[in-house]
Amino acid sequence: MSTADNRKYFQAVDPLAGVPLQEVPKNEQCVERTEAEWRDELTPEEFRVLRQAGTERPYTGEYWDTHTAGVYQCRACGAELFTSNEKFDSHCGWPSFWAPLAEGTVRYIHDRTLGMERVEVRCANCDSHLGHVFEGEGYGTPTDQRYCINSVSLKLVEAPTPQ
Ligand SMILES: [Zn+2]
Repeated sequence: MSTADNRKYFQAVDPLAGVPLQEVPKNEQCVERTEAEWRDELTPEEFRVLRQAGTERPYTGEYWDTHTAGVYQCRACGAELFTSNEKFDSHCGWPSFWAPLAEGTVRYIHDRTLGMERVEVRCANCDSHLGHVFEGEGYGTPTDQRYCINSVSLKLVEAPTPQ
């Protein structure tokens, strides 16, 4: 499925109406690396979270309490995924966003591990694990969604300070 197809899919749904119930298929043009290549490029903690769908311990990541203006890129491939404009204080111990930077930058997988029904969020560009998205928790954000993302999956590129 091409990025254009993905975009078409997303246009069919109201982005404010919630996470699509259907899974978004893997982007065939996405970055493909072997496990050995990923191990080579990533630190052990990055590999565990991004490539093995691990979770960092709450309140230990780099960005859970960051308010710096900027763009959050995928730590694995550099794709721009979230911005500080959609980041909010959820006090859950992980960076939380109420929406991704743009439609189609992330993909969703229904995750039924650990006996819970959760929606996993992955980078649409390289299929690395980012975190999960939760809905209806009453945070009062425009979407009522919380993208609960591991700091170790992200890299903040600070916005240039206005002169
Ligand atoms: Zn990526």
